[in-house]
Amino acid sequence: MDERERSTDSSTLQRIRLTSSLRRKGIRDTRILNAIGEVPREHFVDDSLRSEAYRDNPLPIGEGQTISQPYVVALMTEALSLTGKEHVLEIGTGSGYQTALLCCLARDVVSIERFAELADGAERRLCALGRTNYAIHVSDGTKGWPSKAPYDAIIVSAAAPRTPKPLLGQLAQGGRCVIPVGSRESQSLLFLQRKKNKTEQRDLGAVRFVPLVGEYGWPEDRE
Ligand code: SAH
Repeated sequence: MDERERSTDSSTLQRIRLTSSLRRKGIRDTRILNAIGEVPREHFVDDSLRSEAYRDNPLPIGEGQTISQPYVVALMTEALSLTGKEHVLEIGTGSGYQTALLCCLARDVVSIERFAELADGAERRLCALGRTNYAIHVSDGTKGWPSKAPYDAIIVSAAAPRTPKPLLGQLAQGGRCVIPVGSRESQSLLFLQRKKNKTEQRDLGAVRFVPLVGEYGWPEDRE
């Protein structure tokens, strides 16, 4: 076995360990566990952090941002109940790791990132993994991406002071949204589902995300 085969083998093993630990923490959706078992998280972090890629922790990805903790990624994705047919909007592409999982779990993904450098890195990685069912745009995701609306699911991986109105407006009937809402320091992970004349809401627990900065999020100058 050469060096490359040895490291591939060890990352496969580490992914199996990560999925077992997520199962122990309560993640049940086997499609999500399989996707986490498939997507090489070490490709989404800097080389210097590769040895930490399979710990259940957030890690820095540049521009002061972080790749989310795998458990939180799994929890948010599970709440969306994806079957493979959905048209999904993701706000906060970051490293592209969550995008890669969504590509495995939904029909297609529109992903919005405010930093061009992060969007470029994510694009490069997803392309290298052979994913084709996504589009990444550099923009203020608090406004959503109206030209491809409505979405069956919307996932926001940065924390907002309140749910941005345009996102709710771009949710299909029966569509589901997960978003951390609260202060800059701590938030509740909210699950929202658009029903005929109302939006149902459930609190999935306390989380801590980097701020969602934009017109319907936190102002830039207070970062
Ligand atoms: N899910 C990502 C982690 C996202 S961290 C991953 O798997 O790596 C949150 C991201 O949201 C950061 O990259 C940040 O730049 C981005 N962000 C914050 N405000 C935003 C906005 N208004 N529009 C788009 N992206 C935003």
